[in-house]
Amino acid sequence: MTSLRYLTKSRFKLALECPTKLFYSGKSEYANQSIDDAFLHALADGGYQVGELAKHYFPGGETITTLDTETAISQTHELLKRENIIIYDAAICFQQLLIRVDILVKRPDHIQLIEVKAKSYQKSEDADFLSTKGTVIPKWKPYLMDIAFQKFVAQKAFPRYSVSSYLMLTDKETVCATDGLNQKFKLVKDATGRVRVISNLSAEDIATPILTKVNVDHILNDWLRGEPLEELSFRTFAETVDLFLQAYTNDQLIATPPGKQCKDCQFTATEADKSEQLKCGFSECWQRQLNFNNQQLLEPTVLSLWNCKTIDHFFKSGIFLLKNLSPQDLNTDGALSSPLTQSERRWLQVSKVKNKDTGAYFDAAGMRQEFANYQYPLHFIDFETCTSAIPYFKGMSPYETIAFQFSHHVLHADGRVVHQTQFIDTAPGSFPNFEFVRALKKALEQDCGTIFRFGIHENTVLNHIAKQLTHSIEPDRDELITFIRTMTYQGEKKNRIYGPRCMVDLCELVKLYYYHPATQGSNSIKALLPAMLNSSVYLQALYGKPNYGSPTFPSLNFQDHCWLTKVGEQVIEPYKQLPKLFADASEHDIDLLSEEDELNNGGLALVAYGKLQLTEMSDYERRELEHALLKYCELDTLAMVMIYQGWLAMLNNQTMPNIQ
Ligand code: SF4
Repeated sequence: MTSLRYLTKSRFKLALECPTKLFYSGKSEYANQSIDDAFLHALADGGYQVGELAKHYFPGGETITTLDTETAISQTHELLKRENIIIYDAAICFQQLLIRVDILVKRPDHIQLIEVKAKSYQKSEDADFLSTKGTVIPKWKPYLMDIAFQKFVAQKAFPRYSVSSYLMLTDKETVCATDGLNQKFKLVKDATGRVRVISNLSAEDIATPILTKVNVDHILNDWLRGEPLEELSFRTFAETVDLFLQAYTNDQLIATPPGKQCKDCQFTATEADKSEQLKCGFSECWQRQLNFNNQQLLEPTVLSLWNCKTIDHFFKSGIFLLKNLSPQDLNTDGALSSPLTQSERRWLQVSKVKNKDTGAYFDAAGMRQEFANYQYPLHFIDFETCTSAIPYFKGMSPYETIAFQFSHHVLHADGRVVHQTQFIDTAPGSFPNFEFVRALKKALEQDCGTIFRFGIHENTVLNHIAKQLTHSIEPDRDELITFIRTMTYQGEKKNRIYGPRCMVDLCELVKLYYYHPATQGSNSIKALLPAMLNSSVYLQALYGKPNYGSPTFPSLNFQDHCWLTKVGEQVIEPYKQLPKLFADASEHDIDLLSEEDELNNGGLALVAYGKLQLTEMSDYERRELEHALLKYCELDTLAMVMIYQGWLAMLNNQTMPNIQ
């Protein structure tokens, strides 16, 4: 028997991103850049644990566990014959619309739909999800559309009942009443690959809820009233549902004009996908809608323009390729100043494409001035952190930062590079932050050398830990806070207070003085590193021998390693040389997790930390994973050193290193 094609809430949400996606969704012949592995997803996301915790606030319910949709629908139907019941993961369908409700509370003539989200809510900021102007706060729209779809279907399926709708969210303003709550949820994968959460909570754990249930009917009733909605391209909610339902059930494509939504489209094919004959939805859309030919499909589009807020405007003006932009389109006159303004940097990216110039831009004079301010030995640090929806300790709020790892390289004035220090604490249930800062202090207080970070993450994390310290009873808390203040800044841009040894952001130097076309507009360290390695003869000479992790090039995790491996003329990305963090994960998922940029602080490390915290592992597995994490973080700081060395060599017109 062929199963019905249901328009589910996930597909409804997908179609809201772009209606064309409905056509590609679920078709194995199309490449899809979403993470396949539900377990990795669960580790990265935290939603499963929050979902499980929410059930404890509505005890006594029945769970629909079957994987078969039709059985789930009929089991829910049976249970709903009771006057009063709570159902977890209820399956409700109306015609070919299907919803799975996280928590459904049924009373004799009323149904409550509760959608649980691992999403931080602050009453003082988010209130009733409306801005002061009375419009829906944009970041909440996708969640509200999700529950609106559920309400729409439930009202159709149960016309005799009144239906009220709620979002259940982690309340950022509460504090956890007990220790170790996070550790009371374990993730397991059953034989079918399905992810389950096993929890072991006490009455005390749930006595002070950290989740809050917020009614959303004031917005949903408006949306479902039947008026055309701007957010639905001036269709009513019912018309929109019907449009998507007809398209999906009849497997018809809704053609959508390409626009800024294409930037994050998952239906794009990588080279690896193409070699497996997978189709590229993105290319099909751009061929169909814009008449792009194969050559045009290979050219950089306006979607890759760095930090650009006016992409929609270019699409409306019929400009789709970078090479067709003019300086005026970017509000600049085409000249470059020192340091670069943001508009100039965008123009630089465009002009490199227009001129087919593959060489790097380097403002030597500007960079030289910056370098003159730095004091040796230079320190390069990188943190790995996570935020956990469910707190680890009594007194903590949801989504507080956990800093579990750092790496620290030193570059001396004579050119020596030393992997000097590292810290890692992934023990389940351990709160590492204060030991983390103690170890960092010890590592950095030996001298007054300049400290480099890449991005704002390290500054944000340290300020957060300083706040945690102020509420702590740590004996050395004042000392630790003072240390943090010396190397960070606080406050908004206009009124910033800088510590005397405030960290220097290498990423800012990139934005102001350096651009390599091979990065295609990305400033992530994972894009920069291969670009620099490929173009710097100096770096190739320095890292082209198996000497990393030798007495002259000390490392805490590598031995006699050569970072420069080439295929033909191209350097293999150093990150690709690292051990696989998850043996059973596909290359596809690993690549997607690796793509997380420095602001998200590395998806791979975060997922590895989740695995170490929330799953049962043997000591051997644990050691292996920790060791791999150490190598990843070491490469992050080594990459910063390499970038710095590459620039230094350019400033000195040096092609061969003096040492090693
Ligand atoms: S490429 Fe653009 S238009 Fe096509 S499915 Fe993706 S987002 Fe939609």
